[in-house]
Amino acid sequence: EAKAGGGDRRHWFDAEMDEQARAAARLGADLLDALDRDEMFLLYQPIVELPHGRAAGVEVLLRWRHPELGLVSPDVFIPLAERNGRIVEIGRWVLENACAQAAEWQRRFGPHAPQKISINVSARQLAEPGFVAEVEDILSRTGVDRARLLLEVTETAVLEAGAPLEAVRELRERGLRVALDDFGTGQSSLSLLLTVPVDVLKVDKSFVSGDAADHAGAVIVEHLIGFTNGLRIEAVAEGVETEDQAQRLHAAGYSLAQGYLFGRPAPAAEIESALLPARVAR
Ligand code: C2E
Ligand code: MG
Ligand code: MG
Ligand code: MG
Repeated sequence: EAKAGGGDRRHWFDAEMDEQARAAARLGADLLDALDRDEMFLLYQPIVELPHGRAAGVEVLLRWRHPELGLVSPDVFIPLAERNGRIVEIGRWVLENACAQAAEWQRRFGPHAPQKISINVSARQLAEPGFVAEVEDILSRTGVDRARLLLEVTETAVLEAGAPLEAVRELRERGLRVALDDFGTGQSSLSLLLTVPVDVLKVDKSFVSGDAADHAGAVIVEHLIGFTNGLRIEAVAEGVETEDQAQRLHAAGYSLAQGYLFGRPAPAAEIESALLPARVAR
């Protein structure tokens, strides 16, 4: 029999929330030994020069293949890992493996190796007292050239007062480059550029190919490039999916872009075949 009373709806709603909370708790628990069980791996997405689309570098994107659920989105598991603290160990694993891969590419491909390796770093990692030392340790053990590394942090990460901002400053003093990721999705974005010293600004995909892209997004994208030029910050447009978007970005003055139009996140071997000189000259 159909019961449509408000009390029943609330009951249903609570049950649904319980279900979601339980699922999240279980995923969080499974995260604890995801690394030990070898369930995590890295993909690489090209960051290209406009207008020709030649790869200038790659962004490292973490993947988790859950034994029963299959691929879980990082938008789901990264926040869980941040909450239960596992992100510190996972983030270290990402840095270590991405740097080892970058060093291998340097050795094997020389001038054809990706020139820039972008790695996402969470606030929790930046706030760890030993983070900078750990980065130094990974750099020296893997032998990767620090000038090639770009550490991507989000606005919300650096806005958390204190340690993260200090870490950003120290990393840059040591010759590493830092990018502000998903720019425009958080709060007080523009003033942030004046207080947080960064090398690269990644304009969020919601302005480039999202719902906002046609209207206000286009205006924002066109004006941001003026800001970044004035501040001598490199701009990367994220989420470029169509030729038309790429052309408009180039016309607006963007010289770096990333998106499905140029390449989806892919395993290292696939990225390599795109780097071979024969293919580069194609
Ligand atoms: P992000 O750092 O902003 O990475 C870009 C995201 O946009 C990636 O999603 C990428 O697959 C997606 N993307 C690239 N081109 C396009 C496009 O043309 N259209 C659309 N719709 N999407 C595009 P992904 O790989 O699912 O990662 C989601 C987020 O998870 C990342 O956003 C980043 O914030 C976080 N993340 C991924 N890997 C790591 C990691 O190793 N450490 C940390 N802390 N966070 C990570
Ligand atoms: Mg990123
Ligand atoms: Mg981003
Ligand atoms: Mg993002």
